[in-house]
Amino acid sequence: MDQNFKTNEGIRKMEIKYVPTICPYCGVGCGMNLVVKDEKVVGVEPWKRHPVNEGKLCPKGNFCYEIIHRDDRLTTPLIKENGEFREASWDEALDLVASKLKAYDPNEIGFFACARSPNENIYVNQKFARVVVGTQNIDHCARLCHGPTVAGLAASFGSGAMTNSYESFEHADLIFSIGANSLEAHPLVGRRLMRAKANGAYFIVADPRYTPTAKQSDQYVPFKTGTDVALMNAMMNVIISEGLEDKEFIEKRTKNYEELKELVSKYTPEMAAEITQVPADVIRDIAIKYAKADKAAIVYSLGITEHSHGVDNVQQTANLAMLTGNIGRLGTGVNPLRGQNNVQGACDMGALPSDYPGYQKVIDEDISERFTVTWECKDLVCTPGLKIPEMIDSAAKGDLKVLYITGEDPVISDPDTNHVEEALNNLDFFVVQDIFMTDTAKFADVVLPAACWAEQEGTFTNGERRVQLIRKAVDPPGEAKVDWEIYGELAKRLGANPEAFNYSSAQDIFEEVRTVTPQYAGMNRERLERPEALHWPCPTEEHPGTAMMHVEKFAHPDGLGIFSPLEEQGPKEVPDEEYPLLLTTTRILFHYHAAMTRRADTLDREVPTGYVEINTEDAKELGIINNEKVKVKSRRGEIEIPARVTPDILKGIVNIPMHFRECSANVLTNASAIDPRSGMPEYKACAVSIAKMEGSK
Ligand code: SF4
Repeated sequence: MDQNFKTNEGIRKMEIKYVPTICPYCGVGCGMNLVVKDEKVVGVEPWKRHPVNEGKLCPKGNFCYEIIHRDDRLTTPLIKENGEFREASWDEALDLVASKLKAYDPNEIGFFACARSPNENIYVNQKFARVVVGTQNIDHCARLCHGPTVAGLAASFGSGAMTNSYESFEHADLIFSIGANSLEAHPLVGRRLMRAKANGAYFIVADPRYTPTAKQSDQYVPFKTGTDVALMNAMMNVIISEGLEDKEFIEKRTKNYEELKELVSKYTPEMAAEITQVPADVIRDIAIKYAKADKAAIVYSLGITEHSHGVDNVQQTANLAMLTGNIGRLGTGVNPLRGQNNVQGACDMGALPSDYPGYQKVIDEDISERFTVTWECKDLVCTPGLKIPEMIDSAAKGDLKVLYITGEDPVISDPDTNHVEEALNNLDFFVVQDIFMTDTAKFADVVLPAACWAEQEGTFTNGERRVQLIRKAVDPPGEAKVDWEIYGELAKRLGANPEAFNYSSAQDIFEEVRTVTPQYAGMNRERLERPEALHWPCPTEEHPGTAMMHVEKFAHPDGLGIFSPLEEQGPKEVPDEEYPLLLTTTRILFHYHAAMTRRADTLDREVPTGYVEINTEDAKELGIINNEKVKVKSRRGEIEIPARVTPDILKGIVNIPMHFRECSANVLTNASAIDPRSGMPEYKACAVSIAKMEGSK
């Protein structure tokens, strides 16, 4: 679009470009147009025809452009000498990184991939780690958000992803939201849920906090943090006792039902009421409503997954849906709301220590052999590598010696900050590739400047498995490069087969992704150009893509869904005399993690620092008043933070948003309480104490 502008210098012709792309923040995957003027992104316009967000954006999306041209973007490689960073040439920095990657045993090297980065970068990152360095130690932040979803839904349904699409919610008669505050954390899904409600769906929200989402519900069910398994076992107990289970669905499409039935028989509503703090008649009521609805959808997020029994929680949602036949139809399903914009894609691309692209298992020797042939490389290791918490522990012990992190900021986002910092300080060599000097990058020996999402082509895969194109709007600043180019340069220096990393474009990489990732095989550029793009699985170019999974059979080889009888475990660290309160951590509307949204001035002005939410009665007992700065302490550390006194949280529970370095919730969280099946640390529950600051009245 051409426009003429009158300026002091006279009439000037100015070109404004609108570049369609996808929001860089949450896994909803909203379409937007970046507004480009004079080679700068100066604003964002929602993408009106976009099927996900239909011309709307939340505040994070609206102001995402504010970070692109900031003065503090990294523009040149940096090498640390005598504790200070100095600028370096790409050759010098890459030679140094390559020499270190060559000097250590592959088992002593680890990689964190970036779930905010396009699929093409992540694919090349995992290929570089496996093929060039020879390690399976590659993981990403799904480990710390939806790792239990991947493991749990794969075990129950044969595929570890959202079963339905966002659009499907609008067909529901009832929506059961548990551990999800979608109006804040996934606002454009929240909008869909509100539309479903306007269409007549009954909206139940189970959450320990009376969140903005809970305030919009038809029925709010407060329950004690970490007791999801007991709550859902009791719901299933009621459904079976009332004869409301879907007998035909159970008979034809599932196995293990008798084992489930036997286990849930002891979880009477009265017994679960003791554990969950939900009155027995409320448990009965919501169970009957869920089972009687013709089309009932479950929505969940990190309130379900971020527990030391996160996989159990996820499988309970699958049990509940299968028990009532609420799978494989519009308006039903089990619908995890994914965190980062491309965390689904990062899992799909194989940035997991146990999986190659397309969830093909590293331990399967035939699969490893096939990738060895395809990638024309030395034998690949068939033993799964270390997960993120294991890499951090291993670095702290001195076993993992080199760490290469792309676009992650574990000093802010991983549990037990002191432990993370100890691990990073203990490394022999540490590389960070990022767009800003993050709190984590400050610990690095070499920092490599990367292009952000607006400066490159590629694809993001959103939480409903929709693979969408992102497009380049402007050049990266200074000497910053796109991630895949950096890995390619390193591969050359490390003597990799020159053909294996000789990519000419993101599209070139995507063509390779299609050949090794069965779910993506039928996707080509032309098909992805359409605003609706394609949902995986899309196995052939004739296939329409799959907005709804498990319609006639589940993804297990025998086509059956598997019931999993599960006992209530509860949080690993429970309140005691010294630490009498249970801490949970959350996200808020205006912030994402920290490195990006806190640099968006408009967003940071809205909520410039953190706070601890504490129940009114607890605050009264402790003599704490609203906005007073207090000391919150756990077995890992302590922080000073303003108190927000509110009746909107259960007595005995406190909450801290996780975005704020100066009062970081993760100084307190527990890295040693880990879900054994997914490696998920228990962000949502640890014991803390709160005290007034010394000298305060
Ligand atoms: Fe971006 Fe998520 Fe907001 Fe959409 S809902 S604009 S994807 S942050």
